[in-house]
Amino acid sequence: MAAARYYDGTLAIAREVGVRAGSHELIITDSAGTAVVARWPAAELVVLGDTEHEKAPPVMRRGSEARLVIEDAELRRQLAQLIPALAPLGRPRARAVPRIALFGATLAAAVGLFWLAVDVGSSILAPYVPYDLQHRLGNSVADDLVGKQPLCQGSAGLFAITVLANRLAKAADYPHPIELRVVKGGPVNAFTLPGGILIFYSDLIDKARDGNEVAGVLAHEIGHVVHYHAIKGLARQYGVEQLLKAMTGGFSDLGTIGQGGSLLLAMRNGRSFERDADATGVALLHKLGLRADGIAGFFQHMLDDQPRDAAALIGIWSSHPPTAERIAATRQPATGTPAFSEAEWKSLRAICSGTNSQPRR
Ligand SMILES: [Zn+2]
Repeated sequence: MAAARYYDGTLAIAREVGVRAGSHELIITDSAGTAVVARWPAAELVVLGDTEHEKAPPVMRRGSEARLVIEDAELRRQLAQLIPALAPLGRPRARAVPRIALFGATLAAAVGLFWLAVDVGSSILAPYVPYDLQHRLGNSVADDLVGKQPLCQGSAGLFAITVLANRLAKAADYPHPIELRVVKGGPVNAFTLPGGILIFYSDLIDKARDGNEVAGVLAHEIGHVVHYHAIKGLARQYGVEQLLKAMTGGFSDLGTIGQGGSLLLAMRNGRSFERDADATGVALLHKLGLRADGIAGFFQHMLDDQPRDAAALIGIWSSHPPTAERIAATRQPATGTPAFSEAEWKSLRAICSGTNSQPRR
């Protein structure tokens, strides 16, 4: 077992590291203990999360997005004694709480974490919003967004794209399943909602020249998922209090923070989110040995085809960095395994073909 996992704050990919206490600092090394990865001054260390119930609460350096999870219990105990700021790591966990009380405790923890997130002016804690709440919110926005448009039901196509989505997320250590809804028709767009829910429109699949372009867009959206961009965007836009009220009130209050359309606008990703999602998407495709030229390819092809589409500004098009800059930043050689086999790509192209067919008599 690795002593600790280190997230550098840009990629959601954990690196196995060693950790030791220096004088007035925490020294993070490679797992062999030879090369120093980072030095965090003791005065800037913060223990995050619920130290009562979490086995290994994450540690961060104040003002940084990087996180450290110390898996080794003995190491946690030692560091807690050596560095006062890490004392919470040494506290015994509270005895098991009866299950019935857990939901309330989870909500209370979420409220506290949200406030802390706002207080430190960072959305680093958004991933700790209970996943169940993120997922319920995502479903609610999805229902609103899709409305009466039919969903595509081609099972082979849905299987192929869902399998790839989950492989990409898993490659980033994202711990939850990814769900996909493919909506029949347009616009040519795709969205990421809270709780690992992706919306793809079939017009985007129809416009793509090959499976690698769809895989590129998919990988970009998974980039948003693994960085929890949707929930971070909402927390920033609405403020914590109103968002939590809506999330915990069974969504009867959703009207007060807007219908699905404006929620979607609130989740519109800023410049840094788009750059992160683009870079993470490329990195995840490479990690799986898949062709990674589809993101730039898709943008280029759409820009050549219909320059106005690129100005739609939400979903995959929320392009605060100019599209040309994103193309330049994501351009990759056409090497690696195709993301979809010929048969999978064929099933993706036919994903909606059964949707409106009449039942046979
Ligand atoms: Zn995006």
